[in-house]
Amino acid sequence: MTIISDQPVAAKMKPGQLGGPLLATVRHTLTDAGVGQAVIDEAVQALAAGQVYQAATVSVKEQNTHAVRPFFDCLDLVINHIVTGAPLDAAREAAEALAATPPAQDGHHPWCHVDRCKPHRYDDGVVLTEHRGPECTAELADGHEVLRLRAELGSDENLIDDHASVFIWAGDNDGLSYDQASLGRAIDSLDSFLDGLRHLHRVMGQPRAPKTEEQA
Ligand SMILES: [Zn+2]
Repeated sequence: MTIISDQPVAAKMKPGQLGGPLLATVRHTLTDAGVGQAVIDEAVQALAAGQVYQAATVSVKEQNTHAVRPFFDCLDLVINHIVTGAPLDAAREAAEALAATPPAQDGHHPWCHVDRCKPHRYDDGVVLTEHRGPECTAELADGHEVLRLRAELGSDENLIDDHASVFIWAGDNDGLSYDQASLGRAIDSLDSFLDGLRHLHRVMGQPRAPKTEEQA
């Protein structure tokens, strides 16, 4: 007896073929249907891009605090729109919320935490304000000691260089002051450091190989 399946069966992958059974199935099915190679290539390319996107979005969502998370959330809404026809209002509202800059209060930056800004009145009646903005912290704890990193955005009208600065403190050490260019370089350096740290994290579980008799 021959059993004829009316469901497409996942095509067998050839050795070394990338993309998993889904790509193999699409290639196989389209080829059997007599679809031209150019269209097959385009479909496979689109599926591969989708698979890469899925891996990226899962990774971003696992690191819940990642800065690009809202961007991936918007892309998910756009993909849902293409697949289901659901309206894009939610994506537009999310994009507008991302782009929106809160209005600045008179004499302050848009980012000021005005209740923490400190005005200093001088003898000649001039008031110069020390502006304080958002801060972020990281606690690197090994179970015994903690290394605390803290960064804060601010600007001081009392300084000749009136540009905003980010101050970074490591533990109880004096803070360092960064302008926009030097903070960009510091972020690049920290990025490389984090990539290195992730590598150390990945390989640190690798056990030592057994010693030879001569080594023992
Ligand atoms: Zn302010």
